[in-house]
Amino acid sequence: MARAAGIVSLVLGAVGAIAGLVLYYSCTRTFFGGCVQYGFRDVGLLAMIFGGVLVVVGIVLFAIPEKQAMPAVAPPYAYPMPPSMYQPPVSAATPNVQRNEMFCPTCGNHYPAEYKVCPRDSSELRSIS
Ligand SMILES: [Zn+2]
Repeated sequence: MARAAGIVSLVLGAVGAIAGLVLYYSCTRTFFGGCVQYGFRDVGLLAMIFGGVLVVVGIVLFAIPEKQAMPAVAPPYAYPMPPSMYQPPVSAATPNVQRNEMFCPTCGNHYPAEYKVCPRDSSELRSIS
């Protein structure tokens, strides 16, 4: 894209500079074979300056883009995803304890809600909640 614009600018600048040169030396009034007036001298000079600037811009546009266009073409979103989204599985150590609603204060065992007395040491069970 920039390279094509550089070529266009280069060609336009060259044409403008040549046209300015022609205009600059165009004679608008001759007197016995000698030129006495250059009617397009200002316009020609302007066209030459403008054309020269366009040529320089065209050269710069033509020379630079190869290195500057590469990072713009590369996708900026190609970074690897950070592993922070990983969540460890919830611990499965609690369901048995939660299902047993009675607790023995002597041996520390847990029993279902229908147990009133510990089968091991006959202690009276207490409710966990
Ligand atoms: Zn017990």
